[in-house]
Amino acid sequence: MQTYKAPLRDMRFVLHELHGSAPLTQLRGLEDISPELMDSILEEAGKLAEEVLLPTNTIGDEYGCVLENGVVRTPKGFKDAYDAFRNGGWTALAADPKYGGQGLPESLNKLVEEMICSANLSFSLYPGLTHGAYQAIAAHGSDELKDTYLPKMVDGTWSGTMCLTEAHCGTDLGMLRTRAVPQPDGSYKVSGSKIFISAGEHDLTENIIHLVLARLPDAPKGTRGISLFLVPKFIPTADGRPGARNGVICTALEHKMGIKGSATCQLTFEDATGWLVGDANKGLATMFTMMNSERLSVGIQGLGAAETSYQSAVAYARERIQGRSLGGVKAADKAADPIIVHPDVRRMLMRMRACTEGCRALGGWVARQLDVLERSNDPDARRQAEDFTALMTPVVKALFTDLGFEATNLGMQVYGGHGYIRDHGMEQLVRDARISMIYEGTNGIQALDLVGRKLPQGAGRMLRTFFHPVSDFIERHRNHLLLGEMVKGLEKAFGALQLATGHIAAAGMADPEEAGAAATEYLRLFGLVALGFMWVRSAVIAVEKLAKPDADGGFYKAKLTTARFYMERVLPEVAGLLTAIRAGKRAMMEMEEAAF
Ligand SMILES: Cc1cc2nc3c(=O)[nH]c(=O)nc-3n(C[C@H](O)[C@H](O)[C@H](O)COP(=O)(O)OP(=O)(O)OC[C@H]3O[C@@H](n4cnc5c(N)ncnc54)[C@H](O)[C@@H]3O)c2cc1C
Repeated sequence: MQTYKAPLRDMRFVLHELHGSAPLTQLRGLEDISPELMDSILEEAGKLAEEVLLPTNTIGDEYGCVLENGVVRTPKGFKDAYDAFRNGGWTALAADPKYGGQGLPESLNKLVEEMICSANLSFSLYPGLTHGAYQAIAAHGSDELKDTYLPKMVDGTWSGTMCLTEAHCGTDLGMLRTRAVPQPDGSYKVSGSKIFISAGEHDLTENIIHLVLARLPDAPKGTRGISLFLVPKFIPTADGRPGARNGVICTALEHKMGIKGSATCQLTFEDATGWLVGDANKGLATMFTMMNSERLSVGIQGLGAAETSYQSAVAYARERIQGRSLGGVKAADKAADPIIVHPDVRRMLMRMRACTEGCRALGGWVARQLDVLERSNDPDARRQAEDFTALMTPVVKALFTDLGFEATNLGMQVYGGHGYIRDHGMEQLVRDARISMIYEGTNGIQALDLVGRKLPQGAGRMLRTFFHPVSDFIERHRNHLLLGEMVKGLEKAFGALQLATGHIAAAGMADPEEAGAAATEYLRLFGLVALGFMWVRSAVIAVEKLAKPDADGGFYKAKLTTARFYMERVLPEVAGLLTAIRAGKRAMMEMEEAAF
């Protein structure tokens, strides 16, 4: 089994010290929230992750889900774990009290999500998709739909799905064929086939609420002719219980590389009764409420997997003895030194740590802005938060999952051959984390979203919500007595980001293929600078805290050291990325197709 203890100290740092929890109380509905309350919730979530979810992780991978007579059984232990999860109120954490939710902030919820993903990535999909579906219905559903479905989804007795993908279309949803025919009573009959639907059928909840993209009979072609429908597995009775079985069945389970405890289903809809959510032919925009929420959550999946990989690798590196330290024998009483003494092993551990803590810090910033967007009374602050979260969504999704996958790979490498065989669970982490780079829009598509949609919006209006805080910070800390070098490093990397942005704006305007060719490197460059910003800010806090006699010295010293590692050994990669971006499309586009 993997090693995992909820990283509560670092989570408290992100929540209270880096982003400050006091301003949360200025937001609507959070007036009474206290740091102590948030800490105790994090502690309880940590226990749940360590004691209930983690023990089901290996079993889930070994046994997977099984389809029998149209019914999917989740792996042994999942149902009990889900019941404990639901009974503990965790499905309701960030939902609106109007529907039975606890109304807690996303700043807290995203940290809890990370713990769930660290402990069991497969399990995280069931409540994760339900929360996304809840958000889409809450934002766009009629009052009747909201009143019928949301309380049950919030208390976790019903779960949700997102049904977009069809065999011939994943990225290009404009080609989808599922149809919805209006009925005299205002409902619709939905027919078609969907593939790859996570949590499409399972035994954890008494009902499953599918959000399905489909076309009306007279709909325009392409993405402008897609509508969103709510299709329950069981049609609720007048008193809100699961009633008649609806025309949606699971015809097969996908066999896949990882997340085996998550039921990935082929679903057939045959005259299934559904109801329109939002406006006709605006389904893609409506669904984006769910997709944006899921994109951030998928980013958190990458972070969660990285944390478990890191902790497991550290535990192993302390125990495994091989070779002697280049700096002189460290464990004279043993036949060899623990591998944690070797610079190359430390390179891997430090990289994992620096990227994981950096992503947690950046995720905390984005989550805070989600809270501002949802709850601030100040329209300017809400507008800024909307721009910022829209800008950062593709960055969080792609950067966190790329780095998360890299971290699971490094974790496996630290274990050597023992990581490649199954016993320690390290190869499971690699297999589980890999999908996060693909679903919810591949990371290549996230990069195109950043470059093609987010950068040009309002002549760079979105971009300014990130650029301004970074340049203000550099200005204020340029002459920092102890951290001047680090600030200079950030300034240089930020300069590279500005040059890359200018290059893409100019070259991409003349030739969209130039923007497409630079997109993935640009997103990585952007993300590395964002983590650099988080690291220098963290270092400034650490230095201030270390100057006080009662500081939690070990924690802040480690912060400072990790910040230094990131700034010296990771952030300089932006120079290579800038070179690649400036090289343009030629080398990849001039190859004749037949020559591949
Ligand atoms: C385990 C699993 C769970 C999933 N869960 C769900 C779910 O719950 N609900 C759901 O609806 N779907 C789900 N999916 C589907 C997933 O979201 C899609 O697989 C993904 O969006 C990619 O679509 P595709 O597989 O059709 O690849 P394609 O769209 O065929 O893409 C193939 C490649 O081409 C690239 N590409 C495509 N178009 C462009 C372009 N215009 N420019 C540049 N590159 C491009 C892609 O980046 C990719 O590398 C799941 C998939 C898996 C494997």
